[in-house]
Amino acid sequence: DAKAAGRNTLRFYNRALQERMQARAAMERDLRLAIEQEQFELYYQAQVQSGRVIGAEALVRWHHPSKGFVSPAQFIPLAEESALILPLGAWILRTACECLVRWSRNPALAKLTLAVNISPRQFAQADFVDGVLGVIAQTGINPKRLELELTESMLLHDIESTIDKMTQLKSCGVNFSLDDFGTGYSSLSYLKRLPLDQLKIDQSFVRDVLVDPNDAAIARTIIALGTSLGLRVIAEGVETKAQCDFLERHGCNTWQGYFFSRPITANAFETLIQTA
Ligand code: C2E
Ligand code: MG
Ligand code: MG
Ligand code: MG
Repeated sequence: DAKAAGRNTLRFYNRALQERMQARAAMERDLRLAIEQEQFELYYQAQVQSGRVIGAEALVRWHHPSKGFVSPAQFIPLAEESALILPLGAWILRTACECLVRWSRNPALAKLTLAVNISPRQFAQADFVDGVLGVIAQTGINPKRLELELTESMLLHDIESTIDKMTQLKSCGVNFSLDDFGTGYSSLSYLKRLPLDQLKIDQSFVRDVLVDPNDAAIARTIIALGTSLGLRVIAEGVETKAQCDFLERHGCNTWQGYFFSRPITANAFETLIQTA
């Protein structure tokens, strides 16, 4: 009867929930170990302006000893919830800066910028600015080559402190980019106050820009908005020449996506630049 069926559904639901929680706990354990054992690697995806590579975005990869490749879309949110993002984020930033040091010794790479994703919890730390300045000082990189990617939701939480942190880092030369723009709570009055350098059009608007008039309208609006606020605008997830042409026609000549290159290892990226 219906009652028994309800009980069974509940039992099934509880078991599924329990399994999910166990899988999560296991993943968290693995993640903790992965940080100790440095099972991570940074991949680099080119950012292209009018056909020339002007920089890259660093994207973390986890080589799990038994599961193989685990996507950051899976483990970054978990790391974020468990505070493991703090040691992981520190490793990512240091590794990215060490990469910039290597590039600075090579004339073909010395002018490139490197974008690093910052997670909300990392940015919210009271010593976030000191941490970034510390890595810059220790590695001796040119801060102008470093770009930090933030997302909308993390900035509005405590707007005064956000502006303060960004201003301190900007005064040292660090650049800021607003990632996944258009998917968060875009408050235009806040946007105006943030010391940003660049907006990144989220790939969800780029994907169907040629077939979905709404996506096309949003992409055009972001380009117009960014441009009139004096910001650079970059499109992410560009996979085809036709998407490039659309963006270019509407005033955005900077993009990142599989059309030019997937994220690749540091060595592969350096080879790509020197043979391109
Ligand atoms: P994101 O920062 O918006 O990065 C862009 C994502 O789009 C990357 O996925 C990239 O591989 C993918 N992508 C690039 N071009 C294309 C394209 O042409 N088509 C399609 N379909 N996808 C493309 P990935 O590497 O899996 O990273 C996913 C997300 O995980 C990132 O989104 C970012 O939010 C987070 N993440 C990645 N690396 C880091 C990191 O080092 N630190 C932090 N805090 N988050 C990271
Ligand atoms: Mg990003
Ligand atoms: Mg993005
Ligand atoms: Mg994204």
